[in-house]
Amino acid sequence: MPLLIRNGDIITSGSRTQADIWIEDETITRIGRDLVAPPGAEVIDATGKYVFPGFLDPHVHIYLPFMSTFAKDTHETASIAALVGGTTTYIEMCCPSRLDDPLEAYQLWRSKAEGQSACDYTFHMSVTQFGDKTEGQLREIVADGISSFKIFLAYKNFFGVDDGEMVRTLQLARKLGVIVTAHCENADLVASLQASLLAAGHTGPEWHEPSRPESVEAEGTNHFATFLEATGAAGYVVHLSCRAALERALAAKARGVRLWVESVIPHFILDKTHAERPGVEGMKHVMSPPLRERSNQKALWDGLRTGAIDTVGTDHCPFDVAQKWMGKDAFTQIPNGIPGIEERVNLLYTYGVRKGGLDLHRFVDAASTQAAKLFGLFPRKGTIAVGADADIVVYDPAFRGVIAASAQHTNCDYSGFEGMPIEGRPSVVTVRGKVQVRDGAFVGERGRGKFLKREPGYL
Ligand SMILES: [Zn+2]
Repeated sequence: MPLLIRNGDIITSGSRTQADIWIEDETITRIGRDLVAPPGAEVIDATGKYVFPGFLDPHVHIYLPFMSTFAKDTHETASIAALVGGTTTYIEMCCPSRLDDPLEAYQLWRSKAEGQSACDYTFHMSVTQFGDKTEGQLREIVADGISSFKIFLAYKNFFGVDDGEMVRTLQLARKLGVIVTAHCENADLVASLQASLLAAGHTGPEWHEPSRPESVEAEGTNHFATFLEATGAAGYVVHLSCRAALERALAAKARGVRLWVESVIPHFILDKTHAERPGVEGMKHVMSPPLRERSNQKALWDGLRTGAIDTVGTDHCPFDVAQKWMGKDAFTQIPNGIPGIEERVNLLYTYGVRKGGLDLHRFVDAASTQAAKLFGLFPRKGTIAVGADADIVVYDPAFRGVIAASAQHTNCDYSGFEGMPIEGRPSVVTVRGKVQVRDGAFVGERGRGKFLKREPGYL
Protein backbone atom coordinates (compact mmCIF):
# COMPACT_ATOMS: atom_id res chain seq x y z
CA MET A 1 0.00 0.00 0.00
CA PRO A 2 1.35 3.48 -0.83
CA LEU A 3 2.32 5.42 2.26
CA LEU A 4 2.48 9.14 2.95
CA ILE A 5 4.45 10.47 5.91
CA ARG A 6 3.19 13.98 6.43
CA ASN A 7 4.69 17.07 8.12
CA GLY A 8 7.89 15.49 9.36
CA ASP A 9 11.07 17.23 10.43
CA ILE A 10 13.32 15.17 8.15
CA ILE A 11 16.85 14.82 9.49
CA THR A 12 19.63 13.20 7.48
CA SER A 13 23.37 13.29 8.11
CA GLY A 14 23.63 16.48 6.07
CA SER A 15 20.23 18.18 5.89
CA ARG A 16 17.07 19.21 7.70
CA THR A 17 13.81 19.63 5.78
CA GLN A 18 10.19 20.11 6.74
CA ALA A 19 8.37 17.99 4.17
CA ASP A 20 6.20 15.01 3.29
CA ILE A 21 7.56 11.67 2.07
CA TRP A 22 5.71 9.60 -0.51
CA ILE A 23 6.47 5.88 -0.68
CA GLU A 24 5.51 3.38 -3.37
CA ASP A 25 6.75 -0.15 -4.03
CA GLU A 26 9.18 -0.17 -1.08
CA THR A 27 10.93 2.98 -2.27
CA ILE A 28 10.84 6.70 -1.53
CA THR A 29 9.47 8.25 -4.74
CA ARG A 30 8.77 11.88 -3.76
CA ILE A 31 9.78 14.33 -1.06
CA GLY A 32 7.99 17.68 -1.00
CA ARG A 33 5.54 20.00 0.66
CA ASP A 34 1.81 19.38 0.72
CA LEU A 35 1.84 16.12 -1.21
CA VAL A 36 -1.69 14.85 -1.76
CA ALA A 37 -2.45 11.25 -0.88
CA PRO A 38 -4.71 9.44 -3.34
CA PRO A 39 -7.62 7.48 -1.87
CA GLY A 40 -6.46 4.24 -0.28
CA ALA A 41 -3.03 5.49 0.72
CA GLU A 42 -1.96 5.06 4.34
CA VAL A 43 -1.14 8.41 5.97
CA ILE A 44 1.13 8.90 8.97
CA ASP A 45 1.09 12.27 10.66
CA ALA A 46 4.61 13.11 11.82
CA THR A 47 3.81 16.58 13.18
CA GLY A 48 6.12 17.37 16.10
CA LYS A 49 8.32 14.36 15.38
CA TYR A 50 11.68 13.76 13.77
CA VAL A 51 11.88 11.64 10.65
CA PHE A 52 15.18 9.76 10.49
CA PRO A 53 16.53 7.24 7.99
CA GLY A 54 16.31 3.70 9.35
CA PHE A 55 19.22 3.05 11.68
CA LEU A 56 21.90 0.51 10.86
CA ASP A 57 23.72 -1.60 13.44
CA PRO A 58 27.05 -2.67 11.94
CA HIS A 59 27.97 -5.15 14.69
CA VAL A 60 25.61 -7.77 16.08
CA HIS A 61 25.76 -11.44 17.08
CA ILE A 62 22.58 -13.46 16.69
CA TYR A 63 23.47 -17.05 15.86
CA LEU A 64 26.66 -17.53 17.86
CA PRO A 65 28.26 -20.67 19.24
CA PHE A 66 30.65 -19.34 21.88
CA MET A 67 32.30 -20.73 25.02
CA SER A 68 30.45 -24.07 24.66
CA THR A 69 27.01 -22.43 24.53
CA PHE A 70 24.92 -20.30 22.13
CA ALA A 71 23.76 -16.69 22.23
CA LYS A 72 20.03 -16.62 22.99
CA ASP A 73 18.44 -14.73 20.10
CA THR A 74 17.06 -16.01 16.85
CA HIS A 75 16.75 -13.71 13.85
CA GLU A 76 13.06 -13.45 14.66
CA THR A 77 13.61 -12.14 18.20
CA ALA A 78 16.67 -10.03 17.38
CA SER A 79 15.06 -8.36 14.37
CA ILE A 80 11.90 -7.49 16.28
CA ALA A 81 14.03 -6.03 19.08
CA ALA A 82 16.07 -4.12 16.49
CA LEU A 83 12.97 -2.67 14.83
CA VAL A 84 11.27 -1.64 18.07
CA GLY A 85 14.45 0.31 18.77
CA GLY A 86 14.59 1.92 15.31
CA THR A 87 17.23 -0.29 13.67
CA THR A 88 16.06 -1.42 10.24
CA THR A 89 19.24 -3.11 9.01
CA TYR A 90 21.91 -5.05 10.85
CA ILE A 91 25.21 -6.64 9.94
CA GLU A 92 25.73 -9.92 11.75
CA MET A 93 29.15 -11.38 12.41
CA CYS A 94 29.40 -14.79 10.75
CA CYS A 95 31.79 -16.45 13.22
CA PRO A 96 32.96 -19.98 12.48
CA SER A 97 35.63 -21.44 14.75
CA ARG A 98 39.06 -22.30 13.36
CA LEU A 99 37.95 -25.91 12.90
CA ASP A 100 34.85 -25.11 10.82
CA ASP A 101 34.72 -25.02 7.04
CA PRO A 102 34.21 -21.30 6.12
CA LEU A 103 31.87 -21.89 3.18
CA GLU A 104 29.68 -24.31 5.11
CA ALA A 105 29.64 -21.89 8.03
CA TYR A 106 28.61 -19.01 5.78
CA GLN A 107 25.74 -21.08 4.40
CA LEU A 108 24.71 -22.09 7.91
CA TRP A 109 24.66 -18.45 9.10
CA ARG A 110 22.64 -17.40 6.04
CA SER A 111 20.14 -20.21 6.60
CA LYS A 112 19.51 -19.02 10.17
CA ALA A 113 18.39 -15.59 8.90
CA GLU A 114 16.54 -16.58 5.72
CA GLY A 115 12.80 -16.07 6.14
CA GLN A 116 13.23 -15.31 9.85
CA SER A 117 14.42 -11.70 10.11
CA ALA A 118 11.81 -8.95 10.09
CA CYS A 119 14.41 -6.37 8.99
CA ASP A 120 17.08 -6.36 6.29
CA TYR A 121 20.48 -7.84 7.02
CA THR A 122 23.90 -8.82 5.77
CA PHE A 123 27.06 -10.35 7.25
CA HIS A 124 30.68 -9.65 7.94
CA MET A 125 32.52 -12.90 7.10
CA SER A 126 34.98 -13.88 9.82
CA VAL A 127 38.26 -15.32 8.65
CA THR A 128 39.39 -17.51 11.55
CA GLN A 129 42.11 -19.51 9.79
CA PHE A 130 43.86 -19.25 6.43
CA GLY A 131 44.56 -22.59 4.76
CA ASP A 132 44.96 -23.80 1.19
CA LYS A 133 41.25 -23.65 0.39
CA THR A 134 40.57 -20.33 2.11
CA GLU A 135 41.18 -17.94 -0.79
CA GLY A 136 38.88 -19.80 -3.15
CA GLN A 137 36.15 -20.03 -0.55
CA LEU A 138 36.39 -16.37 0.41
CA ARG A 139 36.20 -15.38 -3.25
CA GLU A 140 32.99 -17.38 -3.52
CA ILE A 141 31.53 -15.66 -0.46
CA VAL A 142 32.46 -12.22 -1.81
CA ALA A 143 30.85 -13.11 -5.15
CA ASP A 144 27.69 -13.96 -3.18
CA GLY A 145 27.46 -10.34 -1.97
CA ILE A 146 29.66 -10.09 1.12
CA SER A 147 32.12 -7.20 0.93
CA SER A 148 33.59 -7.17 4.44
CA PHE A 149 35.64 -9.60 6.50
CA LYS A 150 36.18 -9.86 10.25
CA ILE A 151 39.31 -11.00 12.03
CA PHE A 152 39.97 -11.53 15.72
CA LEU A 153 43.33 -10.70 17.20
CA ALA A 154 41.89 -12.05 20.49
CA TYR A 155 40.40 -15.50 21.31
CA LYS A 156 43.49 -17.50 20.36
CA ASN A 157 42.80 -21.09 19.23
CA PHE A 158 39.10 -20.41 18.68
CA PHE A 159 38.35 -17.37 16.50
CA GLY A 160 41.80 -15.76 16.58
CA VAL A 161 44.22 -15.53 13.66
CA ASP A 162 47.99 -15.34 13.98
CA ASP A 163 50.04 -12.64 12.27
CA GLY A 164 50.77 -14.79 9.22
CA GLU A 165 47.08 -15.46 8.72
CA MET A 166 46.28 -11.78 9.23
CA VAL A 167 48.74 -10.80 6.46
CA ARG A 168 47.25 -13.28 4.02
CA THR A 169 43.71 -12.13 4.85
CA LEU A 170 44.62 -8.47 4.39
CA GLN A 171 46.47 -9.15 1.13
CA LEU A 172 43.44 -10.95 -0.27
CA ALA A 173 41.11 -8.20 0.97
CA ARG A 174 43.31 -5.62 -0.75
CA LYS A 175 43.11 -7.54 -4.02
CA LEU A 176 39.33 -7.96 -3.80
CA GLY A 177 38.55 -4.44 -2.49
CA VAL A 178 37.05 -5.84 0.69
CA ILE A 179 37.21 -3.95 4.01
CA VAL A 180 38.47 -5.93 7.04
CA THR A 181 36.92 -5.35 10.45
CA ALA A 182 39.00 -6.37 13.46
CA HIS A 183 38.67 -7.16 17.15
CA CYS A 184 41.89 -5.62 18.45
CA GLU A 185 43.21 -7.15 21.66
CA ASN A 186 46.54 -8.94 21.94
CA ALA A 187 45.59 -12.59 22.48
CA ASP A 188 48.87 -13.70 24.06
CA LEU A 189 48.88 -10.91 26.62
CA VAL A 190 45.26 -11.65 27.54
CA ALA A 191 46.03 -15.36 28.01
CA SER A 192 49.04 -14.63 30.15
CA LEU A 193 47.23 -12.10 32.36
CA GLN A 194 44.22 -14.40 32.76
CA ALA A 195 46.48 -17.26 33.89
CA SER A 196 48.34 -15.19 36.46
CA LEU A 197 45.15 -13.63 37.89
CA LEU A 198 43.47 -17.04 38.26
CA ALA A 199 46.64 -18.49 39.81
CA ALA A 200 46.49 -15.71 42.39
CA GLY A 201 42.92 -16.69 43.27
CA HIS A 202 41.27 -13.77 41.47
CA THR A 203 38.21 -15.45 39.96
CA GLY A 204 35.34 -12.91 40.08
CA PRO A 205 33.97 -10.81 37.20
CA GLU A 206 35.78 -7.74 38.58
CA TRP A 207 39.02 -9.34 37.29
CA HIS A 208 37.83 -9.48 33.69
CA GLU A 209 38.88 -5.89 32.99
CA PRO A 210 42.35 -6.21 34.59
CA SER A 211 42.91 -9.34 32.45
CA ARG A 212 42.49 -7.27 29.26
CA PRO A 213 43.63 -3.77 30.22
CA GLU A 214 43.59 -0.69 27.99
CA SER A 215 47.25 -1.23 27.02
CA VAL A 216 46.38 -4.64 25.53
CA GLU A 217 43.69 -3.06 23.35
CA ALA A 218 45.95 -0.16 22.40
CA GLU A 219 48.63 -2.65 21.33
CA GLY A 220 46.07 -4.65 19.33
CA THR A 221 44.81 -1.50 17.60
CA ASN A 222 48.32 -0.37 16.72
CA HIS A 223 49.21 -3.90 15.58
CA PHE A 224 46.25 -4.05 13.21
CA ALA A 225 47.02 -0.57 11.87
CA THR A 226 50.64 -1.55 11.19
CA PHE A 227 49.49 -4.56 9.18
CA LEU A 228 46.99 -2.42 7.24
CA GLU A 229 49.78 0.01 6.45
CA ALA A 230 52.06 -2.77 5.23
CA THR A 231 49.43 -4.39 3.00
CA GLY A 232 47.49 -1.30 1.86
CA ALA A 233 44.21 -2.92 2.89
CA ALA A 234 41.26 -0.93 4.30
CA GLY A 235 40.33 -1.65 7.92
CA TYR A 236 37.75 -0.95 10.60
CA VAL A 237 38.33 -1.36 14.32
CA VAL A 238 35.24 -2.79 16.01
CA HIS A 239 34.13 -1.88 19.55
CA LEU A 240 36.98 0.48 20.42
CA SER A 241 36.58 1.13 24.14
CA CYS A 242 39.22 3.52 25.47
CA ARG A 243 41.29 6.64 24.96
CA ALA A 244 44.61 4.77 24.59
CA ALA A 245 43.30 2.67 21.69
CA LEU A 246 41.65 5.71 20.05
CA GLU A 247 44.96 7.56 20.12
CA ARG A 248 46.67 4.67 18.27
CA ALA A 249 43.87 4.57 15.69
CA LEU A 250 44.03 8.34 15.15
CA ALA A 251 47.81 8.25 14.78
CA ALA A 252 47.39 5.63 12.06
CA LYS A 253 44.68 7.63 10.29
CA ALA A 254 46.92 10.71 10.44
CA ARG A 255 49.71 8.91 8.59
CA GLY A 256 47.31 7.84 5.87
CA VAL A 257 46.28 4.34 6.91
CA ARG A 258 42.81 3.53 5.59
CA LEU A 259 41.22 2.91 8.96
CA TRP A 260 37.79 3.60 10.45
CA VAL A 261 36.62 3.30 14.04
CA GLU A 262 33.49 1.86 15.64
CA SER A 263 32.60 2.15 19.31
CA VAL A 264 29.61 0.37 20.81
CA ILE A 265 26.87 1.71 23.04
CA PRO A 266 27.82 -0.10 26.29
CA HIS A 267 31.19 1.69 26.37
CA PHE A 268 29.54 5.12 26.15
CA ILE A 269 27.04 4.44 28.93
CA LEU A 270 28.44 1.79 31.31
CA ASP A 271 31.78 1.52 33.08
CA LYS A 272 33.87 -1.08 34.86
CA THR A 273 32.12 -0.59 38.19
CA HIS A 274 29.14 -2.40 36.62
CA ALA A 275 31.31 -5.54 36.22
CA GLU A 276 32.60 -5.11 39.77
CA ARG A 277 29.12 -5.67 41.23
CA PRO A 278 28.98 -8.89 43.23
CA GLY A 279 27.92 -12.21 41.71
CA VAL A 280 25.83 -12.41 38.61
CA GLU A 281 25.21 -8.64 38.54
CA GLY A 282 28.87 -8.22 37.64
CA MET A 283 28.81 -11.15 35.20
CA LYS A 284 25.95 -9.53 33.26
CA HIS A 285 28.35 -6.72 32.38
CA VAL A 286 31.23 -8.84 31.09
CA MET A 287 32.07 -8.20 27.45
CA SER A 288 35.33 -7.78 25.50
CA PRO A 289 36.93 -5.34 25.31
CA PRO A 290 35.73 -4.86 28.88
CA LEU A 291 33.80 -1.95 30.32
CA ARG A 292 36.43 0.62 31.23
CA GLU A 293 37.31 3.26 33.78
CA ARG A 294 34.68 5.98 33.45
CA SER A 295 37.21 8.62 32.39
CA ASN A 296 37.36 7.00 28.93
CA GLN A 297 33.79 8.01 28.19
CA LYS A 298 34.77 11.63 27.63
CA ALA A 299 37.25 10.51 24.96
CA LEU A 300 34.56 8.41 23.30
CA TRP A 301 31.89 11.14 23.32
CA ASP A 302 34.43 13.73 22.11
CA GLY A 303 35.59 11.32 19.40
CA LEU A 304 32.00 10.77 18.33
CA ARG A 305 31.25 14.50 18.17
CA THR A 306 34.29 15.25 16.01
CA GLY A 307 33.98 12.19 13.79
CA ALA A 308 37.20 10.56 15.07
CA ILE A 309 34.83 7.69 15.90
CA ASP A 310 32.92 6.93 12.74
CA THR A 311 30.10 4.63 13.84
CA VAL A 312 28.22 3.46 16.92
CA GLY A 313 27.16 -0.19 16.96
CA THR A 314 26.17 -2.54 19.78
CA ASP A 315 28.16 -5.81 19.73
CA HIS A 316 24.71 -7.13 20.71
CA CYS A 317 25.25 -10.56 22.20
CA PRO A 318 22.65 -11.91 24.64
CA PHE A 319 23.58 -14.63 27.12
CA ASP A 320 21.06 -15.10 29.91
CA VAL A 321 21.66 -15.25 33.65
CA ALA A 322 22.00 -19.06 33.72
CA GLN A 323 24.67 -18.87 31.03
CA LYS A 324 26.50 -16.06 32.84
CA TRP A 325 26.63 -18.34 35.91
CA MET A 326 28.90 -20.70 33.94
CA GLY A 327 31.59 -18.31 35.08
CA LYS A 328 30.88 -18.52 38.81
CA ASP A 329 34.24 -20.18 39.55
CA ALA A 330 36.36 -18.28 37.00
CA PHE A 331 35.78 -15.01 35.16
CA THR A 332 37.33 -16.61 32.06
CA GLN A 333 34.26 -18.88 31.79
CA ILE A 334 31.68 -16.07 31.72
CA PRO A 335 30.18 -15.88 28.21
CA ASN A 336 31.12 -12.45 26.87
CA GLY A 337 28.37 -10.13 25.75
CA ILE A 338 25.71 -7.57 26.60
CA PRO A 339 22.46 -7.22 24.62
CA GLY A 340 21.83 -3.75 23.16
CA ILE A 341 20.22 -3.97 19.73
CA GLU A 342 16.94 -2.57 21.07
CA GLU A 343 18.41 0.21 23.22
CA ARG A 344 21.22 1.62 21.05
CA VAL A 345 19.34 4.39 19.25
CA ASN A 346 17.34 5.55 22.27
CA LEU A 347 20.44 5.58 24.50
CA LEU A 348 22.48 7.46 21.92
CA TYR A 349 19.68 9.97 21.46
CA THR A 350 19.08 10.40 25.21
CA TYR A 351 22.67 10.52 26.46
CA GLY A 352 24.24 11.92 23.30
CA VAL A 353 21.80 14.34 21.68
CA ARG A 354 19.64 15.32 24.69
CA LYS A 355 22.19 15.34 27.48
CA GLY A 356 25.55 15.40 25.71
CA GLY A 357 25.23 18.05 23.03
CA LEU A 358 25.71 15.55 20.20
CA ASP A 359 24.67 17.16 16.94
CA LEU A 360 21.48 15.64 15.51
CA HIS A 361 23.09 15.14 12.09
CA ARG A 362 26.18 13.45 13.56
CA PHE A 363 23.81 11.20 15.53
CA VAL A 364 22.14 10.07 12.29
CA ASP A 365 25.51 9.79 10.60
CA ALA A 366 27.11 7.63 13.32
CA ALA A 367 24.10 5.39 13.87
CA SER A 368 23.08 4.97 10.23
CA THR A 369 24.73 6.79 7.32
CA GLN A 370 28.43 6.09 7.95
CA ALA A 371 27.92 2.36 8.35
CA ALA A 372 25.85 2.31 5.15
CA LYS A 373 28.65 4.13 3.32
CA LEU A 374 31.51 2.08 4.74
CA PHE A 375 29.83 -1.26 4.07
CA GLY A 376 28.44 -0.72 0.58
CA LEU A 377 24.78 -0.07 1.39
CA PHE A 378 24.57 3.66 0.62
CA PRO A 379 22.40 5.33 -0.75
CA ARG A 380 19.98 2.41 -0.71
CA LYS A 381 20.25 2.54 3.11
CA GLY A 382 21.40 5.30 5.48
CA THR A 383 19.52 8.28 4.05
CA ILE A 384 16.14 9.70 3.12
CA ALA A 385 16.21 10.46 -0.59
CA VAL A 386 14.21 9.70 -3.70
CA GLY A 387 15.19 6.23 -4.85
CA ALA A 388 16.31 5.01 -1.41
CA ASP A 389 14.66 2.08 0.33
CA ALA A 390 11.76 3.37 2.43
CA ASP A 391 13.29 2.44 5.79
CA ILE A 392 12.09 5.28 8.00
CA VAL A 393 11.94 6.04 11.71
CA VAL A 394 9.34 8.58 12.84
CA TYR A 395 10.84 9.47 16.20
CA ASP A 396 8.91 10.88 19.15
CA PRO A 397 11.19 13.17 21.19
CA ALA A 398 8.43 13.71 23.77
CA PHE A 399 8.41 10.08 24.92
CA ARG A 400 9.72 9.40 28.42
CA GLY A 401 10.42 5.90 29.70
CA VAL A 402 12.77 3.63 31.62
CA ILE A 403 14.66 0.61 30.26
CA ALA A 404 13.45 -2.68 31.75
CA ALA A 405 14.26 -6.26 30.81
CA SER A 406 10.63 -7.16 31.49
CA ALA A 407 9.58 -5.07 28.47
CA GLN A 408 12.36 -5.97 26.04
CA HIS A 409 11.98 -8.02 22.86
CA THR A 410 15.44 -9.56 22.72
CA ASN A 411 15.47 -13.12 24.08
CA CYS A 412 17.31 -12.42 27.31
CA ASP A 413 16.27 -12.23 30.96
CA TYR A 414 18.26 -9.15 31.87
CA SER A 415 19.21 -5.75 30.47
CA GLY A 416 22.63 -4.27 31.05
CA PHE A 417 20.87 -0.88 31.06
CA GLU A 418 18.12 -1.74 33.55
CA GLY A 419 16.47 1.29 35.13
CA MET A 420 18.01 3.91 32.85
CA PRO A 421 15.67 6.74 31.82
CA ILE A 422 15.05 7.29 28.11
CA GLU A 423 13.97 10.53 26.43
CA GLY A 424 12.52 9.70 23.04
CA ARG A 425 11.72 6.55 21.08
CA PRO A 426 10.54 5.44 17.63
CA SER A 427 6.87 6.04 17.06
CA VAL A 428 6.65 4.42 13.62
CA VAL A 429 9.29 2.26 11.93
CA THR A 430 9.04 1.10 8.32
CA VAL A 431 11.01 -1.49 6.41
CA ARG A 432 10.85 -0.89 2.66
CA GLY A 433 7.58 0.97 3.04
CA LYS A 434 5.81 -1.41 5.39
CA VAL A 435 4.98 -0.29 8.92
CA GLN A 436 6.68 -2.80 11.24
CA VAL A 437 6.53 -0.96 14.59
CA ARG A 438 4.16 1.45 16.30
CA ASP A 439 5.06 2.98 19.68
CA GLY A 440 7.12 0.14 21.09
CA ALA A 441 5.05 -2.71 19.64
CA PHE A 442 5.88 -4.93 16.67
CA VAL A 443 2.86 -4.79 14.35
CA GLY A 444 4.40 -5.90 11.09
CA GLU A 445 5.35 -8.90 9.03
CA ARG A 446 7.77 -11.48 10.39
CA GLY A 447 10.32 -12.75 7.92
CA ARG A 448 10.06 -9.60 5.77
CA GLY A 449 13.81 -8.99 5.96
CA LYS A 450 15.97 -9.45 2.88
CA PHE A 451 19.60 -10.43 2.54
CA LEU A 452 21.42 -7.38 1.16
CA LYS A 453 24.06 -8.10 -1.44
CA ARG A 454 27.02 -5.72 -1.37
CA GLU A 455 29.87 -4.89 -3.74
CA PRO A 456 33.47 -4.41 -2.61
CA GLY A 457 34.37 -0.70 -2.58
CA TYR A 458 38.04 -0.51 -1.54
CA LEU A 459 40.01 -1.30 -4.70
ZN1 LIG B 1 31.38 -8.73 18.41
